[in-house]
Amino acid sequence: MYADVIVDITHEKLDKVFQYRIPDTLKDRLCIGSEVIVSFGKSDRKIRGYVVGFSEKPDYAPEKIKPILEIDEKGMAIESRLVRLAAWMKEAYGGTMIQALKTVLPIKKKEQERTKRTLRLCLTEQEGKERLERYLEKNQKARARVLAALLDSPEMDYSLAVKKLHVTASVVRALEDQGVLKVASEREYRNPKIQKREQNVPIRYTQEQQQAIEQFQRDYLAGDYGAYLIHGVTGSGKTEVYMEMIRTVAAEGRQAIVLIPEIALTWQTVMRFYQIFGARVSVMHSRMSAGERYDQMQRAANGELDVMIGPRSALFTPFPNLGLIVIDEEHENSYKSEQVPRYHARETAIARAEMEHASVVLGSATPSMESYYRCQMREYRLIELKERVGNRPLPTVHTTDMREELAHGNRSIFSDLLREKIRDRLEKGQQTMLFINRRGYAGFVSCRSCGYVVKCPHCDVSLSAHRNGKLICHYCGYEEPMIKVCPSCGSRHVGGFKAGTQQIEDLVKREFPEARVLRMDMDTTKNKDGHERILSAFADGEADILVGTQMIVKGHDFPAVTLVGVLAADMSLYSSDYRSGERTFQLLVQAAGRAGRGSAPGEVVIQTYDPEHYSIKTAAKQDYQAFYREELEFRDRMGYPPVENMLAVLMMGEDENHLNTAAEYLKAYAERIGGDYLEVIGPAVPYVGKVSDIYRKILYLKCPKYGMLIRVKNQLERYIKVNSGFQTLRIQFDFNPMNI
Ligand code: ADP
Ligand code: ZN
Ligand code: ZN
Repeated sequence: MYADVIVDITHEKLDKVFQYRIPDTLKDRLCIGSEVIVSFGKSDRKIRGYVVGFSEKPDYAPEKIKPILEIDEKGMAIESRLVRLAAWMKEAYGGTMIQALKTVLPIKKKEQERTKRTLRLCLTEQEGKERLERYLEKNQKARARVLAALLDSPEMDYSLAVKKLHVTASVVRALEDQGVLKVASEREYRNPKIQKREQNVPIRYTQEQQQAIEQFQRDYLAGDYGAYLIHGVTGSGKTEVYMEMIRTVAAEGRQAIVLIPEIALTWQTVMRFYQIFGARVSVMHSRMSAGERYDQMQRAANGELDVMIGPRSALFTPFPNLGLIVIDEEHENSYKSEQVPRYHARETAIARAEMEHASVVLGSATPSMESYYRCQMREYRLIELKERVGNRPLPTVHTTDMREELAHGNRSIFSDLLREKIRDRLEKGQQTMLFINRRGYAGFVSCRSCGYVVKCPHCDVSLSAHRNGKLICHYCGYEEPMIKVCPSCGSRHVGGFKAGTQQIEDLVKREFPEARVLRMDMDTTKNKDGHERILSAFADGEADILVGTQMIVKGHDFPAVTLVGVLAADMSLYSSDYRSGERTFQLLVQAAGRAGRGSAPGEVVIQTYDPEHYSIKTAAKQDYQAFYREELEFRDRMGYPPVENMLAVLMMGEDENHLNTAAEYLKAYAERIGGDYLEVIGPAVPYVGKVSDIYRKILYLKCPKYGMLIRVKNQLERYIKVNSGFQTLRIQFDFNPMNI
């Protein structure tokens, strides 16, 4: 017997299995997934590798086959099933086997990793300020520095703080002795006091919830595993349904993984799971150190856990007997990885579940086009929750046409209606959320008088304004000069669309000087826990208005919010990719879902330059089916996913000319092998055309058949490998891309 080993070197040429002899001493301990040390190459360099299989026949002269030197027992042996999953990912998404293995492997604990420590302020602001005065009087500068910093941000990373503030450990110890701060070694979820659930009140499921649970149980207990999509309006009680399904699985001695977008992974959500599954739940998140994560993975492998909650990467939790994977907010972009292999958690979860005879439950108030399409194709089973728990009505939605506001002389960012409604809420002491729809690269150009947007004649997506003064299509590379007047109405009010959260906050304050305003965006949440701090302050009624980006629409309950204003609904509508209509619909519906979660009914005002656009119209009616039909018609007409499949080939290189030539070669090759079924578009410049002096070009391959696109990818990979012209370039594949 020989061991098939994948070596830990990321290089296309070495992306294959190497045979190694198994010494007698290691025979009993070696299994698929073992991490081994082998000697490699002419120089017999010692390197790390993973056993991915065994073979009986030697590939060449047996005496030339080198032995495995040792097994690294420190590493958790990856389950053979995860190795299979890695192999599936390599095939489905491209890249090398070692890249795929590293994605599914628990990250190794470093020899002596210290647990991460946090400094936490133990005084109230008033006490802290008084104490600070005293330190300054006594000229205790180091202590004053630490305290002042903590008053600014009540929690800091220990080692970072010590370094930044130039203080010694003894200063920190002295402050701890005086009760000023606490050094916490393990992170606890702070109580954001968003909403307290009455303990021990058993839930009576609604009829829809009950049906969903029963359907799942019936299938599951009969060994009929599959993928489900729960399409449930906001507040329909999806999370309760997930928990009951997990109970079913746990009662059978199997485990569950719950994926939640990192940004929605709040203390509030986690607590709900703790209340039911207690210590058998664990949470993973990006702020944990590699060591902490590794420990949780180990606990999962040892059978100490029933449930793992976390973002995308929690999908690879090495449970011994996985029964269910739940993906909440399944439409979220963050489920797509931006590193090779660029996998989608939904597809990968389904692949893993098939290998391990488990089920997958996807949930969303605004399902992705992909998932709903798969339901129509009978690949997924659809479960609908149409009513909010407690028969709470969905909010009333008003749309205001900003072109009309301009026409009657209102140049402010608020329509008359929204301004009036905010005033009303301020008087009643109710809360308002103002949502600024802002996406990173919305570079589209539009007319403020008539709403006209410049689009690509070939791809039906918006053109982006570039610094060179041209309007460019990011799919096919089409370009035209920047416009000065509107081609449709002749108005000079044309240009890029800009709306910063900071500016909006200032405008809100100027318009409503009496209101207390909080702002939530990338800037104000940079600090650790900044996100939860702002949310809990708002939940505690410390502000009347919360201004924010996408971040504020994600799954939080604020019962006192009765008004949601959407400023610039159009921002995401014309970001230049084919998903912009879908993204807009999702954002608007999710934002609207924030209003009226308490006992008072909610209202929503959507401000737009394009009230007739189907994304906006259907979102205002909260009519998912109507949106789906229109959007699918567009996807079908243009050959975009989910009707067809699309493969992006991202090419990167330092020499722009060489990159362009290589892109043309690859395009020609793809066209040659693809025949009639494959459409090749581009090469074009992606959103970000150059990153630290590395130029980027992109080709899009469209094909109705997924399997064929995979074969084309494999052929392209081989072509790239054997042609020296591509050697200086980096080339990555991205199936049905979401963020490039
Ligand atoms: P979703 O995930 O669909 O937005 P949640 O599961 O978060 O909905 O439910 C919204 C709120 O309603 C939560 O506070 C939850 O505890 C509560 N809830 C859910 N189902 C019921 C029920 N059957 N009876 C009473 N309250 C419920
Ligand atoms: Zn116009
Ligand atoms: Zn185009």
